[in-house]
Amino acid sequence: MDKKQAPLTSLRERLTRYMEEKAMRKTPERYEILRVAGLAGGIFTIDELTGLMQKNATFQVSRATLFNTMELFFEAGLAIKHSLATAAHYEMRTDNNPKAYTICHQCNTITKVSTSTAKLALQNLHVRYFSTEDKIVYMHGICRKCQAKNRQEARKQKSTKQDKNKNGKR
Ligand SMILES: [Zn+2]
Repeated sequence: MDKKQAPLTSLRERLTRYMEEKAMRKTPERYEILRVAGLAGGIFTIDELTGLMQKNATFQVSRATLFNTMELFFEAGLAIKHSLATAAHYEMRTDNNPKAYTICHQCNTITKVSTSTAKLALQNLHVRYFSTEDKIVYMHGICRKCQAKNRQEARKQKSTKQDKNKNGKR
């Protein structure tokens, strides 16, 4: 078995166990969505999952099914759900590594920080008497793109101001 497949196999097994425990129907849709969501390899919205399904799934399901299934994965502990200011983002729980994300409050983009950086920062974070299941950190701020945009706009404003001053002196 190659390394990339291993976490997905364990997710499949856990999904099967969960559905058996809850006496749910083991529909092929749920397994197919699990497979395709695993291909995302990071965070995704329902819209992005729809795109992935169109590209990679052997059959298509409705958006409502995608939504309900991701909620099921979340309840079963197979997926992480990020409830942020924008649309909910999901992520398959393929490992127990600490996770960190940056959220730009200007364009609402959420980006995953590299696992090694998150590990380094969070491995020593422990809270006494608290049984930690996930270490997830969100960093709010302004992304690189928006910073560049803001700098450009500031320059533009400055130059129009200077022009006005020049004209005023005349
Ligand atoms: Zn931004």
